[in-house]
Amino acid sequence: MLKVNEIFYSIQGEGTSAGLPCVFVRLTYCNLRCTYCDTEYAFYDGKDMEISEIIAEVKKYQCNLVEITGGEPLMQMDECLFLMKQFCEEGFEVLLETGGSLSIKEIDQRVKIIMDLKCPSSGMVKKNLYENINYLKSTDELKFVIGNREDYDWALDVIKKYQLINKCEILFSVVFGKLEPVQLVNWILEDKLNVRFQLQVHKFIWHPETKGV
Ligand code: SF4
Repeated sequence: MLKVNEIFYSIQGEGTSAGLPCVFVRLTYCNLRCTYCDTEYAFYDGKDMEISEIIAEVKKYQCNLVEITGGEPLMQMDECLFLMKQFCEEGFEVLLETGGSLSIKEIDQRVKIIMDLKCPSSGMVKKNLYENINYLKSTDELKFVIGNREDYDWALDVIKKYQLINKCEILFSVVFGKLEPVQLVNWILEDKLNVRFQLQVHKFIWHPETKGV
């Protein structure tokens, strides 16, 4: 049994699958409180669902791409691991969005992990579980959400310290409404940094505060 905040069909807004239709399974709870969080409604609200019910609901959309997100989906670790495995067994392409504070060690190898490393302006930098870097596959994605120059410089230091370039896909995005995209792009180009700049596409298609997209 998992506590599920919402299941919805939309366009993937981030990462290397951006632009593709995707079914999102948003699980309840989060152990972090990022300053810029846009899914606070997932901290507590949700309904209990059996794994078979979740899979049946997702199948209704006839879409092979499914993302498990939150909140922090790994808060419900054992059941979430099982859910992802079951989706893989059913032939789905499975994405997991995680904040990077809980272990990704036991995740099925077929799952593409999109993991944050929280920058200083999130207020959650002390929660990063750096050991997780050891478990990232070359097909996984590591995301830095950058709110100011301090965050950017911090991200550069982490990339250097853990030799992250070429380890997996590195995503740089801005804290929406806090840092101008052009500023971040200019910094990346000035430093000739081999990372992927991204915008949260769904925030441009719909109103930035629209839920269930
Ligand atoms: S990890 Fe995600 S859901 Fe949790 S507080 Fe941070 S932004 Fe919000």
